[in-house]
Amino acid sequence: MEEKDRKTSDKEARMKERFQRKSSYTSIRYLRRMKELSGAPEEMTRFFDILDKVYTKMERLDIPEDIPMVGTYCVMAPQELVYAAGAQPVKLCSGSYTAFSVGDDKVPRDACPLVKAVEGFQSTDTMPLYRDCRLMVVPITCDCKKKIAGMLSGERELVVLHVPVKKEDEDIEQYVEELYLFMEKLEDLTGKRISYDSLAGAIRMTGQAAYELSRFLSLKKQMPYLMRGTHSMAMMNAAAYMNAGIWADQVRGVNDALEKRVRLKKPFTKRQLPRVMITGSPIIFPNIKIPLLIEEMGGVVAADETCMGERGMSDPVVPTDESFDGLVRALAVRAIRPCSCPTFADNKQRIYRIRQMIRDYQIEGLVYHVLRGCLVYDFEYKQIEEDLGRLGIPVIRLETDYNEEDIEQLRIRIEAFIEMIKLQKGPAQHRV
Ligand code: SF4
Ligand code: SF4
Repeated sequence: MEEKDRKTSDKEARMKERFQRKSSYTSIRYLRRMKELSGAPEEMTRFFDILDKVYTKMERLDIPEDIPMVGTYCVMAPQELVYAAGAQPVKLCSGSYTAFSVGDDKVPRDACPLVKAVEGFQSTDTMPLYRDCRLMVVPITCDCKKKIAGMLSGERELVVLHVPVKKEDEDIEQYVEELYLFMEKLEDLTGKRISYDSLAGAIRMTGQAAYELSRFLSLKKQMPYLMRGTHSMAMMNAAAYMNAGIWADQVRGVNDALEKRVRLKKPFTKRQLPRVMITGSPIIFPNIKIPLLIEEMGGVVAADETCMGERGMSDPVVPTDESFDGLVRALAVRAIRPCSCPTFADNKQRIYRIRQMIRDYQIEGLVYHVLRGCLVYDFEYKQIEEDLGRLGIPVIRLETDYNEEDIEQLRIRIEAFIEMIKLQKGPAQHRV
């Protein structure tokens, strides 16, 4: 090797090492803070371990060599098709501060941090999870997703899914066509044909995961509190890197532990903490600072209407026609119709969903999370603030980036918000 080449490769190796060290450091600190919060049942350990493996140790997932990994960039790409083709889906949207700081220099300043983090991982080639994906699928939902597809094309095998902006029958038809094209790519990748049986089996497996999640959510609604929202977010984030069947088994363990708490009358706290709901741009590990701050400041994240959280997996696939086409159509319907992502033109549905969750989870305040540059979510803020204002529910808009520069400011604002909720209810109700 020539001297110049050797110096370049030494420099690259040092750069990767520095990247991995910084990235691990962030992840260690956020994992530690999550574990330090009271109330996580022991059964949560597996979920923390997965996040630790991916973000701290930066190790490869334990997936057999003969099962190719398919990376997805939105919940609107049905994971059932990936399973049915004999592959393993992983979600690649990331909250990495280190990858963001690299991507920040390469992507326009006003782009969202998620797209910057993708660019950071792409250009440093440091994350085994990204390297191991043999195919990536990007549903085109906003300008940033379009640019993610542009950045990845040429580097990897890529599928782009054109997501309709409306939810009429013809829009569903259009998405069904997209899914058939996606299936062809998956079959080329694995060499296996997606059959009725393999697809029905995959739908059954994710249905089991949705069932355990619905059981979990009804336990989480209970008062006194059985589980913290930050821990629930860790569980939901870990699902991005786990087989759906294994994830469902682990959640069943958590549910059983929570039911035991009910039987023994041992909630994690008997205090009536202010009940906060989070909505807005996705909250992805390790960028978990907002739910952590809410709970560290004395609130409880009682509900979560974000796509990397409880919203992402709670709608089951419901086939109405028992043909192969009926199954594919049911996947398209589930991806589009109940989705309250503001990338759709008319999104009244999101307001109904938020109102309903406020009622079901007895929410006392709403945190509206906006990732800087995420226009689609920011656009809907005013409407939601006005609507909830009529119901007397306080709302706070928190705009953040993938770094810690705003931590103190966030802490002060969140603390004041929690105090305001307490005052509205009267001090007696929040006494220990
Ligand atoms: S915010 Fe919307 S477009 Fe982005 S990943 Fe979530 S569901 Fe997909
Ligand atoms: S929906 Fe928002 S957070 Fe997601 S890629 Fe688009 S701009 Fe970024």
